[in-house]
Amino acid sequence: MSGPRKLHVKSYGCQMNAYDSQRMADTLTAEGYVETAVAEEADLIILNTCHIREKAAEKIYSELGRIRELKAAATDAGRDVLVAVAGCVAQAEGEEIIRRAPVVDLVVGPQSYHRLPALVARAGRRRVIDTEFPPEDKFEFLPPPSPAAVRARGVAAFVTVQEGCDRFCTFCVVPYTRGAESSRPVAKIVEEVSHLCRAGVREVTLIGQNVNGYHGLGPDGRPWSLGALLRRVADIPGVARLRYTTSHPGYVDEELIAVHRDLPALMPYLHLPLQSGSDRILAAMNRRHSQADYLRIVERMRAARADLALSSDFIVGFPGETEDDFRRTLDVVEEVGFAGAFSFKFSPRPGTPAADMADQVPEPVKVERLARLQQAIRRSQVAFNTGCLGARFDVLLEKPGRHTGQLVGRSPYLQPVQVAAPATLIGEIMTVTVIEVGPNSLFATPTPNVRRDAARLAEAGA
Ligand code: SAM
Ligand code: SF4
Repeated sequence: MSGPRKLHVKSYGCQMNAYDSQRMADTLTAEGYVETAVAEEADLIILNTCHIREKAAEKIYSELGRIRELKAAATDAGRDVLVAVAGCVAQAEGEEIIRRAPVVDLVVGPQSYHRLPALVARAGRRRVIDTEFPPEDKFEFLPPPSPAAVRARGVAAFVTVQEGCDRFCTFCVVPYTRGAESSRPVAKIVEEVSHLCRAGVREVTLIGQNVNGYHGLGPDGRPWSLGALLRRVADIPGVARLRYTTSHPGYVDEELIAVHRDLPALMPYLHLPLQSGSDRILAAMNRRHSQADYLRIVERMRAARADLALSSDFIVGFPGETEDDFRRTLDVVEEVGFAGAFSFKFSPRPGTPAADMADQVPEPVKVERLARLQQAIRRSQVAFNTGCLGARFDVLLEKPGRHTGQLVGRSPYLQPVQVAAPATLIGEIMTVTVIEVGPNSLFATPTPNVRRDAARLAEAGA
């Protein structure tokens, strides 16, 4: 007799996709599926895709080639395998996916995940495409993860609080693939975070395409800002650390700056994409802020929280970008001293205004600028990490480390930190002193004191 049906979900792209993948798995495990990390043994394979750059989208088609072989082998062995494409490629390309990759049985857009069990049942009989933006809120219908699933995913969790985007940056597909901005009600977020914390989560990252555009309904019947939401979430028993991502400079308000001053649980690390240091390019990108506006926000955030570090996103080779424009980006990297940053070559995306702009930058120029920018970012990151040598800070211990007897955790700045500690301390916050800085990790020793966090939990009766 065959056992329970097995599900394999492979996630590409941003943290919102990682979160969605978990929620899809929760929906299907509630229907009797069991998750597997091995695609070859799955009865249902879901690729949760990313459409943000051409490379990301093309990756899906090469993966589908591999899955075609895997499915053929399963059919030869007398076993049916269903293949689903979810996420932003599904939303953007719909039927085209099945035309290019007939191995696909189901195409499902990001707003329809709550319908998955029904869609999967139908896809067993014929091909199904659902890329609607349904009127109902999918979050209302997605079941919460079981405590065992929460524990398996670790002590740091993401929670989507906002989706979609109304800002229409000229290079970006998100407003088309994820739809208009919408925010979940405060009460629902509090319920989800409380559920996660009861199952052992200690660090919560509130996520959204433009998370600081959050305007969800508060218990007082009014829209709450992200700042107000962060204050409420910080009060939930068990929440030891809070983060949020990704923010848009245009939505940074007084309240958000104030919570960085007021909430010790809010980690002093802010991901705030700038994209370009040139005002001319920022205008062409429709970012609706200047380089000076960005630097003012950085200054005010640092005034609110002196130990704040920043990371960012940059695009090089946007149409019309000159050497002078590009140098302005390098100047900002120098001036801000980012702890890290993501950088990309501009990728023309079908249907976005920038794809059709004149003055597309030749590929070799993009390649050369990206290399220079990445060098500058790397220098800045190394300087930041080196500055941590000898520092004492709190690390949330997450999982076994590189060597026996070691655990790895995250610093307030998301750096992986290796420290000697027994596995029983996973989920605890330990104060450490950094003794060595490697290229990708910090190495630290425990600093006597501080399991105050464990004490806090004990007090809360958790
Ligand atoms: N909402 C966030 C913001 O406004 O900063 C960004 C979200 S987007 C999913 C993540 C990053 O992908 C962007 O910050 C941008 O740097 C990059 N990106 C988006 N579209 C791109 C494109 N067409 N080519 C290259 N990079 C792109
Ligand atoms: Fe894309 Fe701009 Fe919206 Fe960010 S703000 S998701 S870059 S359109």
